[in-house]
Amino acid sequence: MQRSQRIMGLTGGGSDGWDVFLKARRMLAQGVAVTELTIGEHDIRTAAPILQNMHENALAGHTGYAAVPGTDGLRDTVAARVQARTGVPTTRDNVMITPGGQAALFAAHMATCDAGDRALYIDPYYATYPGTLRGAGAIPQAIHTHAEDAFQPRVDDIRAQAPGARSLLVNTPNNPTGVVYSDATLAGIADVCHDHDLWLISDEVYDTQIWEGRHLSPRALPGMADRTLVVGSMSKSHAMTGSRCGWIVGPEAVVGDLITLATHTTYGVPGFIQDASEFALQQGPAFETEIAAPFQRRRALAQTVLAAQNTVGLVPAQGAMYLMLDIRATGMTGEAFANDLLDTHHIAVMPGESFGASAAGHVRVAMTVEDNAFEHALRQLCAHADLRA
Ligand code: PMP
Repeated sequence: MQRSQRIMGLTGGGSDGWDVFLKARRMLAQGVAVTELTIGEHDIRTAAPILQNMHENALAGHTGYAAVPGTDGLRDTVAARVQARTGVPTTRDNVMITPGGQAALFAAHMATCDAGDRALYIDPYYATYPGTLRGAGAIPQAIHTHAEDAFQPRVDDIRAQAPGARSLLVNTPNNPTGVVYSDATLAGIADVCHDHDLWLISDEVYDTQIWEGRHLSPRALPGMADRTLVVGSMSKSHAMTGSRCGWIVGPEAVVGDLITLATHTTYGVPGFIQDASEFALQQGPAFETEIAAPFQRRRALAQTVLAAQNTVGLVPAQGAMYLMLDIRATGMTGEAFANDLLDTHHIAVMPGESFGASAAGHVRVAMTVEDNAFEHALRQLCAHADLRA
């Protein structure tokens, strides 16, 4: 039977860059002690009080169909949080709850792009982006950034691709580079969106992980609330990756469309998960800082380790749970280096190429193992690069 072009073409063909990750998983399954620095998942689990709250709400009966747009309580809590953080007036009518940020990314493009529309995104990018845009029928178009700019996008490069495009997807703090877009970059992006009538889809799932500078949500820039859809999630900020709870914040009319989409696709998010998410958000910023703290600590450790050698470059990063390491001095591709490191030292990192051509010759390190093991793995990685250089 013939399968659809849509599904067959989703990943665009070729290697999807996850070979090293899958190899590491196979080695782990065979009992090899692999230091896993590949995916963006905390080394802690969801906090017990959040799980307790989930359990109590499930036992209390919130196990039937939940309201498709999300519960009033969670939508109100997300709206209040967004308003407090950005100053933009936001009510529950601006909020749609989704099964994680990933579903929000897909829904945002479904709501803004027609089949064949060009949807822009910034390279390096979170690995699912091009496939998500294709899944929504759009034609993904990468805008390259440069290691020498620490992967801060150049507004002129975005402007050059903007004519005729429908949307632009940005992600700050960024996975995989850790770059936090400057106020000037975001102001320039807003100008391009106005000048070329683009939707801006702003993936802010790392907004609580800022180590330097500040997080500016572009929805807060003049005139942008009408053309911006913000993607948020409980995954990174509250260590709730498995709960699959996220949201889109945007204009009321779009939220209405997203509710129609959800009615015909996901039919919402389980009520007890939403209750626990509401409870988690009510714990306030101190709890979010506690969840983010290990990454900030490990980033400082990495700065010390990397400063003591000259082979591996640390791309200056201001946020998120990752580091990008420049291994071009070895003459190897990121993929070859990652494979070599896994085979030799049983340390798994992601090849930069998995995140787009702009990150060639780099590897991404997730700061997701405990401090001593993390520091040890980084020292081994640097020594290994030294040997290969
Ligand atoms: N956006 C970015 C940039 C991510 O890194 C991730 C997950 N790694 C997501 C969105 C999706 O996260 P989730 O679906 O768990 O909310």
